Amino acid sequence: MQHDYDPENIFAKILRGEIPNNTVLETEHALAFRDIRPQAPVHILVIPKGPYATLDHFCTAASDAEIAGFWRAVGQVCEGAGVEQGFRLIANAREHGLQEVPHFHVHVLAGRSLGPILSAG
Ligand code: AMP
Repeated sequence: MQHDYDPENIFAKILRGEIPNNTVLETEHALAFRDIRPQAPVHILVIPKGPYATLDHFCTAASDAEIAGFWRAVGQVCEGAGVEQGFRLIANAREHGLQEVPHFHVHVLAGRSLGPILSAG
């Protein structure tokens, strides 16, 4: 599958320092920051620093070091403040996944009971 990456997407601009973000964690291969429209008391986005559009793009094209570095950062975020009683990880991809920003990211949601995994519709 061909994976295109738009370098003008908003998370690419965050990585280039062109727009601000509320950083939770920064490592060699990943940046974690607070979602601008939080859906739970804790809503953190974790993104790789490389130009990958979706999870499948990242997991097939990134180097082992990038993949390890990214998931280690996710682990650190999931051990951070506010997630002691559990969390949910979401990765939306492309149209049916309703992905809004075409730079791979996972949502870490926590801080309240999150309900069923999917709502109807
Ligand atoms: P998705 O639908 O999985 O692509 O989710 C994209 C997420 O990015 C949404 O939850 C938005 O609220 C969030 N978002 C968009 N722009 C920003 C921004 N500048 N800073 C932080 N979060 C953002």
